[in-house]
Amino acid sequence: MPSLKIAVIGAGPIVVFESDKSPNARVPGGPLDLHPATGIAALKEAALYEEFLKHARFGGEALVICDKKFTKYINLPGGDEHSSRGRPEIDRTTLRDILLNSVPPHLIRWGCRLRSIDENRSLIFDHSRESGYDLVVGAEGAWSKIRKLISDQMPTYAGLTGYHWRSPDAMDIAPRVGIFLLRRTCDYGPAAWGGSLNVYTFAPWSEDRKANAPFDLHDTEAARNALLDEFHDWHPDLLDLVRHGQDPEPRPLYMLPVGWSWESCPGVTLVGDAAHVMTPFAGGGVNLGMQDALILSRAIFKASKSPTSETNLPAEIKSFKKDLFVRAEQTSKPDQ
Ligand SMILES: Cc1cc2nc3c(=O)[nH]c(=O)nc-3n(C[C@H](O)[C@H](O)[C@H](O)COP(=O)(O)OP(=O)(O)OC[C@H]3O[C@@H](n4cnc5c(N)ncnc54)[C@H](O)[C@@H]3O)c2cc1C
Repeated sequence: MPSLKIAVIGAGPIVVFESDKSPNARVPGGPLDLHPATGIAALKEAALYEEFLKHARFGGEALVICDKKFTKYINLPGGDEHSSRGRPEIDRTTLRDILLNSVPPHLIRWGCRLRSIDENRSLIFDHSRESGYDLVVGAEGAWSKIRKLISDQMPTYAGLTGYHWRSPDAMDIAPRVGIFLLRRTCDYGPAAWGGSLNVYTFAPWSEDRKANAPFDLHDTEAARNALLDEFHDWHPDLLDLVRHGQDPEPRPLYMLPVGWSWESCPGVTLVGDAAHVMTPFAGGGVNLGMQDALILSRAIFKASKSPTSETNLPAEIKSFKKDLFVRAEQTSKPDQ
């Protein structure tokens, strides 16, 4: 039985040709919540759940919905493994390390930025070219180069722009919010919690305002002043998080159309944000991506067990893709 040759482009939560030069080449974004039927199911099947539990923060399931006066309408405490509401949190770097440590290092080719792919599935990197793969998997996020072989569809601006701020010591700089959050996330001792916060500030911005912002989006003080001005009537304790936040990163949000699908393209498929980038408010993106990886791995495994693996692979990929379209549409619909 011939063995199948598979290339995965982009090592978000998966493997192999990764543009980053090393695992620590950049600081990934804020924490992620993982859900039982998707992200956590993938970790369980990969026998990584016990490792996940060592780092998961069930206290991160605390949820407060309040208005700008800090009046709370929904106010749920964090839990623990046994009282989980099904959304434990983990830092991206930790999740990435857990996944990376579970695969043989030689499977990952760091510093390989894909520039394009041609119709023969030749992969053109900055400094090399690779070919001969039975299946190429585009897992390189929203701006996938592999997707360009499949379709002209690009993500479009979702009408929301925000900032990701880091507050390394919330207790010092915003003590009232800090103490409140600490109480809500009751399983974090101050030491485990570390007192640090990731703060996101999102607001509707028109395409025009994003393109012609009245200040330099990358200038920390200009961004801070603009936000303090925009949110001037918000509760001072909430504004302290912006007043003292550090290293703001602008985050205009992009999405593929809800229900987007593609025609068959032999030997090529997509997973994760490359297939279905969406806004983060349902916390679905990485969960869906990990579920894609799980279902795709089953499809490849099934094809590889057949005596005619090369002929079975296209049929398995086709059913994987059909299922992906349904799951992606369900997750990205506003009422899900
Ligand atoms: C503010 C915010 C909060 C979020 N919170 C959550 C949450 O709580 N829960 C959740 O489920 N989702 C969340 N998401 C969504 C989640 O971050 C994404 O869905 C997830 O990261 C997608 O994973 P991915 O591997 O498909 O893509 P990415 O994470 O974008 O990874 C792509 C990888 O491909 C590599 N790459 C890119 N281009 C190339 C190239 N040309 N050649 C080689 N390699 C390349 C990159 O270096 C990267 O390692 C959030 C998103 C945002 C913006």
